[in-house]
Amino acid sequence: RSSLKIGMLPADGIGREVLPAARAAILALGSSVPKPEFIDLMAGFEYFTRSGTALPDETVDALKNECDCALFGAVSSPSKKVIGYSSPIVALRKKLDLYANIRPVKSVSVDPAVNPVVDLVVIRENTECLYVKQETQVVTENGKEARATRLITERASRRIGDMAFRTALTRPRKHVTIIHKSNVLSITDGLFRETVRSVPGLPEVNGRYGDITIAEQLVDSAVYRLFREPEIYDVMVAPNLYGDIISDAAAALVGSLGLVPSVNAGDSFVMGEPVHGSAPDIAGQNIANPLAAMRSAALMLRHLGYGEGADRIENAVDVVIREGKVLTPDLGGKSKTSEVVDEVVKRI
Ligand code: NAD
Ligand code: MN
Repeated sequence: RSSLKIGMLPADGIGREVLPAARAAILALGSSVPKPEFIDLMAGFEYFTRSGTALPDETVDALKNECDCALFGAVSSPSKKVIGYSSPIVALRKKLDLYANIRPVKSVSVDPAVNPVVDLVVIRENTECLYVKQETQVVTENGKEARATRLITERASRRIGDMAFRTALTRPRKHVTIIHKSNVLSITDGLFRETVRSVPGLPEVNGRYGDITIAEQLVDSAVYRLFREPEIYDVMVAPNLYGDIISDAAAALVGSLGLVPSVNAGDSFVMGEPVHGSAPDIAGQNIANPLAAMRSAALMLRHLGYGEGADRIENAVDVVIREGKVLTPDLGGKSKTSEVVDEVVKRI
């Protein structure tokens, strides 16, 4: 590659404040990566209110045809149904078949009394479960009745299981915990559990997963144990909704949602995205933590094979956290978003 074409989708709220931070981190790498070319693309709720669509076809076409990868900020999806609106990030994950959401959560604090030692990665299935958004409502003689379809397929469970085991192979502990609730949902979660469990035994991959250990945990007690003894977890693989919830919970253990990055990954495309949302409570004040977005840029680069560039961003972020002098208010600091960005860029 002579250049790296990166689709940029800041979308709403603090997404617009943290995506420039990811851009600054990549630019600071100089020749560690091919010359970056940023392509600004439209998406989001604010764009919907202006145009009537939250994800224009031009954006999807540009991602498919012009971009090598992408970075997404965050979207402000309303909690009440808005006619014609549908979350662009949920749609993008499906349209680009980004079937895995990879969310590493790692504590950096040198004081385990403040933050427990956490070093885990949530591998969240990204295309189905309740996020197929097939909901219906009827009025009965007893009032309204609403239903949602929860889709679990063997194909999606197998490929997310495969992603989890391949991820485990790259980590020192090589331990996979399958998260489910198949004591109650024996058909849906049962299929997820059985399929993921069977991945290492598949004939075509026999032997590849030899030294991995497998455990499983019901989702509710998994959250409990995550708070009491987070060190037991290495790779956690989960259906879409459980993975969403568990990764926000794990973010609390390391100090802030503003620290946790992710990539949405498929077989041919990758999109970095901080785990947090658009944070309307702090938007527009230049106090959003930019580190999750910067780490998401690093994860995206690592996924594309630019490990050295990724290391440089991640190490710089870790140093700034460890020093503890230039931090945003979510981490107890007094610094502005832009000051934290400058500090990290200096270290890169
Ligand atoms: P949120 O992640 O936006 O915020 C939760 C809390 O964490 C807030 O108090 C917020 O101030 C804080 N926080 C989050 N990111 C931070 C950062 N970088 N720095 C400092 N503090 C940070 O979740 P929410 O409040 O439940 O949702 C707000 C909106 O975001 C909703 O409209 C929701 O639909 C949307 N959302 C979008 C995504 C996405 O785009 N992938 C994900 C989650 C939520
Ligand atoms: Mn979430």
